[in-house]
Amino acid sequence: MLPVRACVLALALSLIVSLPAAGQSVPGSGAVTVIRAGTLIDGRSQAARRDQVIVVRGNRIESVGDAASTKIPEGANVIDLSRATVLPGLIDSHTHIFLQGEDPAEGGYDAQLLMQGLAFRAARATVAARRALVQGFTTIRDVETEGAGYGDVGIKQAIEKGYIPGPRMFVVTRAISTTGGYNLEGYAPEVEVPKGAQIVDGPVEARKAAREQLDHGADWIKVYMTHRSWLDKDGNLFSQPTLTLEEIRAIVDEAHGWGKKVACHAYNGVGLHRALDGGCDSIEHGLELDDRAIAQMVKQGTWLCPTMSVYYDHWSPADTPAGKRDRKRVELHGPSLRKAVRAGVKIAFGTDVGGFSWNEPIAKEFARMVEFGMTPMAAIQSATSKGAEMLGMSGEIGVVAPGAYADIIAVPGDPLKNVADLETVQFVMKDGKVFETGSK
Ligand SMILES: [Zn+2]
Repeated sequence: MLPVRACVLALALSLIVSLPAAGQSVPGSGAVTVIRAGTLIDGRSQAARRDQVIVVRGNRIESVGDAASTKIPEGANVIDLSRATVLPGLIDSHTHIFLQGEDPAEGGYDAQLLMQGLAFRAARATVAARRALVQGFTTIRDVETEGAGYGDVGIKQAIEKGYIPGPRMFVVTRAISTTGGYNLEGYAPEVEVPKGAQIVDGPVEARKAAREQLDHGADWIKVYMTHRSWLDKDGNLFSQPTLTLEEIRAIVDEAHGWGKKVACHAYNGVGLHRALDGGCDSIEHGLELDDRAIAQMVKQGTWLCPTMSVYYDHWSPADTPAGKRDRKRVELHGPSLRKAVRAGVKIAFGTDVGGFSWNEPIAKEFARMVEFGMTPMAAIQSATSKGAEMLGMSGEIGVVAPGAYADIIAVPGDPLKNVADLETVQFVMKDGKVFETGSK
């Protein structure tokens, strides 16, 4: 549902412009659309600019300039966002369209793998992809299908071919962990249950899994470097490491050979250090980055994708081991991000949405990033130009500048003053096509 102020702006917009109907493309591949931006945060510059005009031809941005000096091309379709803040389409670098914020009351994670067929899960993933786009996320890196095989490749293809709406997708397919290193677990040892990730043991199997996944369309490889976590007798967070250094090295070597990168789920401790020693390209979560890890990340140019907000949900009761762990994770995570920001670690915005419901605002993560040491502009750039850089798409996405894809959004208010304004995206253009956000 649109909040009141968004409704007011939407009404104002409807009086001024006639937008193309939902999902329709601007007619003709070379058609020209002009966007008047009251304020433009271009994703790259350190300051916003007032009264800009963005000229879009086909699916690319042709020019960006001051309204006073820009001539509107004849016959252009003009979209008036002069009362809004215009930004590049956002990038969430850690999503799970095949997870639905599983409610423990409905069987939780396990029920999705044991009870739900792939067609059902793909249908829900289709809805999740649309939810990303509606919320202004025009690109996602979706970091594993949780037992749904290569389903992400199929959803990505359906989006690219125009059958369903959704963001640009970078997919990892199945992800990789070791025996004892991923769900489902806790069943009788005699019972064969599916696993949410591809299980490998030894560098040969690890390399083979990476090859299979790359062969079937993985854009990135996702690896679990830690799995279970608990508090030790001194109250410290302890995380079980999974892959050995030899195993992660085999995967990174293979992926890099294909010109692809490796994202490593790692909380802290031995698994985190193996990830860095093994040459991982991004650390996912990084709940407790020690000084050595931070120094190594700066030196190696490793990205941190923190995913703060997911850890604030669904805590177990406070007096249980799991409940104590849940609270400890949050206690460590904020200071860990703060240290990383201060040290100059490269940060990419990521949320783990799917770990929480797709009906919650993805952009709630921005407020957490600001709470723990990032400026609003730095947080926005982590979801625009910085995310693009991590994905090897600098200048193509995550920026409103000539030559980039026309992935453009607008929000009411000023997200530099209040980053929560990014939760009320009301205009979305992806690849030069206006996506109607009104029907959520
Ligand atoms: Zn995740």
